[in-house]
Amino acid sequence: MSHPDNCIFCKIITGSIPSRKVFENDEIFAFHDVNPWAPIHFLIVPKMHILSMAQVEAQHAALLGRMMVLAPKLAIEQGCKPYPEGGFRIVTNTGAEGGQEVHHLHIHVMGGPRPWLKG
Ligand code: 5GP
Ligand code: ZN
Repeated sequence: MSHPDNCIFCKIITGSIPSRKVFENDEIFAFHDVNPWAPIHFLIVPKMHILSMAQVEAQHAALLGRMMVLAPKLAIEQGCKPYPEGGFRIVTNTGAEGGQEVHHLHIHVMGGPRPWLKG
């Protein structure tokens, strides 16, 4: 399991690994996925190094809520058409059997015209 010192998303948040930034504030960072499954595909991450949804506790509820509230706003800004004709998909893979590859909690936000590579 990654430690913040060798976590790829912690490095993206600090800028030591470049990314195409979508949004940043004091607690949240969002950037385009390097290997998109859909015409629009970005990730929303907490700056805090939480491993996955399996480690989420009550103290994280407000932060997770703010990430979820941000998702539709950023989706529209990134070009997703409005609900109900457009919309988007939110996915959070958790653990090996959940398909998680990067062990820093992240929300995938995907949208745009179909077909998509996955899903
Ligand atoms: P997971 O499989 O953990 O849910 O998703 C990890 C996502 O991170 C994948 O969709 C992958 O393409 C993306 N990713 C992995 N490394 C990098 C990187 O260095 N930069 C960016 N922008 N995305 C990455
Ligand atoms: Zn991290």
